[in-house]
Amino acid sequence: MNWLTNFVRPKIQRLRETPAKEVPDNLWHQCPKCSEMIFHRELEKNLRVCTHCSHHMRMPVRDRLRMLFDEGKWSEVDLPQVAVDPLKFKDRKKYADRLKEAQAKTGLKDAVVVGHGAMGGMSVVVAAFEFDFMGGSMGAAVGEAIIAAADLAMLQEAPLIIVPSSGGARMQEGILSLMQMARTTVAVDKVREKGLPYITVLTDPTTGGVTASFAMLGDVAIAEPGAIIGFAGARVIEQTIREKLPEGFQRSEYLMQHGMVDMVVPRPELRAKLIQLISLLLQTNVEGVVNLAPAQRRKMRERESSSLVPPDPTVPDMHYDPDGASAS
Ligand SMILES: [Zn+2]
Repeated sequence: MNWLTNFVRPKIQRLRETPAKEVPDNLWHQCPKCSEMIFHRELEKNLRVCTHCSHHMRMPVRDRLRMLFDEGKWSEVDLPQVAVDPLKFKDRKKYADRLKEAQAKTGLKDAVVVGHGAMGGMSVVVAAFEFDFMGGSMGAAVGEAIIAAADLAMLQEAPLIIVPSSGGARMQEGILSLMQMARTTVAVDKVREKGLPYITVLTDPTTGGVTASFAMLGDVAIAEPGAIIGFAGARVIEQTIREKLPEGFQRSEYLMQHGMVDMVVPRPELRAKLIQLISLLLQTNVEGVVNLAPAQRRKMRERESSSLVPPDPTVPDMHYDPDGASAS
């Protein structure tokens, strides 16, 4: 025993045990596009859109729901249980273990959260994806969630909004995953048959089996700027057709130019745009163009009569004018 072992070593040990830094390293985020550093609070305030280059970063699912609903409030829907790991799939890890890891990381049961609540005072059902949960991949649980959302929309006679962010099928569920494409397609079709608006908000990335099913079937397809939307990846396509793909291929803006999506809406304007669309679509329904569920029609009439103002002859009629050459 000497001074070194009794005094110096314990002290060194203590020093080693204290964490290297107390400051959490997630206070600053680096934009993956322009590499600028953004303070986390500023980034949250700006809805995870880069304050320097307007790059839209991926958004955690509950933040997404918070930004869409009135006052950030919604009710979360309990989703049906599904058989866990029906194929007993194993690659480098067991699928059951991968699921548990993803659940611990995200605090979710699976990759979709369904919420219902008010948007602009109108009741809506929103199903949104969490990309951090196994790449937002679609297995049986995701399929059930989309079906539950569609069923709830029909029950409440409310519009359905789906916000995908997904790499596509969940390969660990094999054919059962692929079956969800047909199931979700039928589910959203039923919503449309009921005359209820179905709107998709395609976020980065919307690919694979999700693109090939419900994501492309919205009455209106909105995309966030710069999002990758496609079926197969660009590299796979290039290798298959042995051709260089055009600039911006599979990005929102390119898809809008080529008629695959209806509009590209920056995230800060998204909520207002959705409210405008829903009220327009419900309005159309009221006029009998699409048959509308009775409760929603009644609600629209009430809204109309409560806000009925005699028309002002000096104000020209507001109407959609695609050429911008208004007659008034
Ligand atoms: Zn940036």
